[in-house]
Amino acid sequence: MSLTAQIHVPRLNKTLTVPTGLFINNEFVPSVDSKELIHAINPATEEVLASVVAASPKDIDVAVAAARHAFKTTWGKNVTGFERSRLINKLADLIERDAQELAELESLNNGKPVKVARDFDIGDSIQCLRYYAGWADKIIGQSLEVDNKSKIAFTRHDPIGVCGQIIPWNYPINMWSWKVAPALAVGCTIVMKPSELTPLTALKLSELVKEAGFPPGVVNTVPSLGPVGGAALSSHPDVDKVAFTGSTITGRKIMEAAAKSNLKKVSLELGGKSPHLIFESADLEQGAFTSVLANKHVLLRVGLIPNWDTVAGILNTIYDKFLEILVSKVKATVVGDGLEEASGGGPVVSKGQYDRVWGYIESGKAEGAVAILGGEKRNSKGYYVDPTIFTNIKPDMRIIFGPVLSVGVFNTEDEAIALANDTSYGLGAGLHSNDANQCMRVSSALEAGTVWVNQYNLLNNNVPFGGKKQSGIGRELGSYALEEYTSVKAVHWNFGEKLDWPL
Ligand code: ADP
Repeated sequence: MSLTAQIHVPRLNKTLTVPTGLFINNEFVPSVDSKELIHAINPATEEVLASVVAASPKDIDVAVAAARHAFKTTWGKNVTGFERSRLINKLADLIERDAQELAELESLNNGKPVKVARDFDIGDSIQCLRYYAGWADKIIGQSLEVDNKSKIAFTRHDPIGVCGQIIPWNYPINMWSWKVAPALAVGCTIVMKPSELTPLTALKLSELVKEAGFPPGVVNTVPSLGPVGGAALSSHPDVDKVAFTGSTITGRKIMEAAAKSNLKKVSLELGGKSPHLIFESADLEQGAFTSVLANKHVLLRVGLIPNWDTVAGILNTIYDKFLEILVSKVKATVVGDGLEEASGGGPVVSKGQYDRVWGYIESGKAEGAVAILGGEKRNSKGYYVDPTIFTNIKPDMRIIFGPVLSVGVFNTEDEAIALANDTSYGLGAGLHSNDANQCMRVSSALEAGTVWVNQYNLLNNNVPFGGKKQSGIGRELGSYALEEYTSVKAVHWNFGEKLDWPL
């Protein structure tokens, strides 16, 4: 089987070439024992773009062995922070060089518009790599005085070792960068498992890893089905850490596999039901805009993102006015083929997700929610779900999923806080208000890893991100992510203390 595929894209008048093998030791290789393939589908046309090798558990063993060998020989503690920084910066430069083509590939496989992939996801990923390149030569421990005359202790922040990284389909390039950049910065080696729905850009990025000059085995890429390659990685006895972004159900399985194998360190970024509260003094235009942005992935990007399902809660005195503005903002958005420059949103990623979203929409309607926008299927090819706004929602309804914004009403600040916190999740939350005291009170009371005040859903690479409650464990981004990939070693250094003997 050839280990590259040509994807002809008539609309762009070009042919994209993608590697289709497993990327191990800087080479694209076939499986050692399996003929299984993963078919990457274009959700706008429902056609197969390319078929890539699906890693078996034995392939995972080979990739982990490659990563371990690199960790012990060319990477890990065998390379300076200056060199790690140089290589990560080089990788960022190459991604910047190829941003347009990577964005086209991302759009073809994931559905999000090219301009969104290029200007947001890839732009942010380049910055993320550069941010962590800056950290690579600044990994510092502490020097601890024990006894000035006889003993000092110090800590070293050692790279934790071989990291299994399992990422989802909603931000294939972004999630790749969030995981790869801090791991490389501190000296870890990587076995990356992209989502089986969107394997293409991780393979394309692997070519750039090699071109940047990383030694073989430092970054390995193994597309595979979750219960096969993902499960093998999380239960692998020679993987030191697993970093995961995806659903809470899968997060539980990963933690269990880690516990049952070698108690590897685990970080999980999981689902959420993120409330967005609009108070009376809020700038309603901005509030409406960010409510759409809250669902940006949902309404404007991929069409669906399970970990960002958002509920907007509006104070009843401003409810009608706010809804009017909100509907006009959403109506102004074009949802179409991601290759069209005019598209602000694309189809959902797969048939499975499409059926799931429609299941939720139908169940919401059956339970009495009212769709004031969208909520009707298209009669054409592609997994499109037009932006949908539901009112008349109740807390136990299941429609809070997909390119769907559910809008509810509250009467008092206390009620808003209680409603917002009445969930087992705690990924993100936001509020809009121009009352400074209220902003401080509510942001402090909201139970979430991230709270936005007068903004929503915008992240920065130097600010940590992660979940509270069942939305996750650990933090990505910022200096906090470095802790996820390091192991602290305390060195006790005696330079004068003598033990009296016998004790
Ligand atoms: P979603 O429902 O958003 O697709 P998942 O949590 O199922 O989210 O998928 C996110 C990532 O987790 C994907 O890369 C997928 O292959 C992987 N995955 C799925 N099941 C498992 C599993 N049992 N063990 C490890 N990884 C898995």
